[in-house]
Amino acid sequence: MHRLPGDKCQEPIPGFVCPISSNVDLIIEAVNSVSSDLMEPYVEKLRLKVCGECRMETDGHCRLRDEANCCLYSFFPLIVDIVEQEIGGSR
Ligand code: SF4
Repeated sequence: MHRLPGDKCQEPIPGFVCPISSNVDLIIEAVNSVSSDLMEPYVEKLRLKVCGECRMETDGHCRLRDEANCCLYSFFPLIVDIVEQEIGGSR
């Protein structure tokens, strides 16, 4: 998992591709498609658009998420704020 700010990914499993850097467009699209004061709708959209194309299992679980080893999931509230401030969301 990344350590902020901007440090090298610690690769929780060998060959793990960073879900932030490999899904920037989908993350921006997911954030900008939601307008809510609550974080849950953003998380739901993230799971739909990004996790569904990543390592999420058919029952909705992700081992890396459950172990707090997904940088995208762990830092998602911060990422939502950055996208909305820098790219113009409506939250
Ligand atoms: S929580 Fe799991 S499925 Fe979702 S982006 Fe992270 S590693 Fe991928």
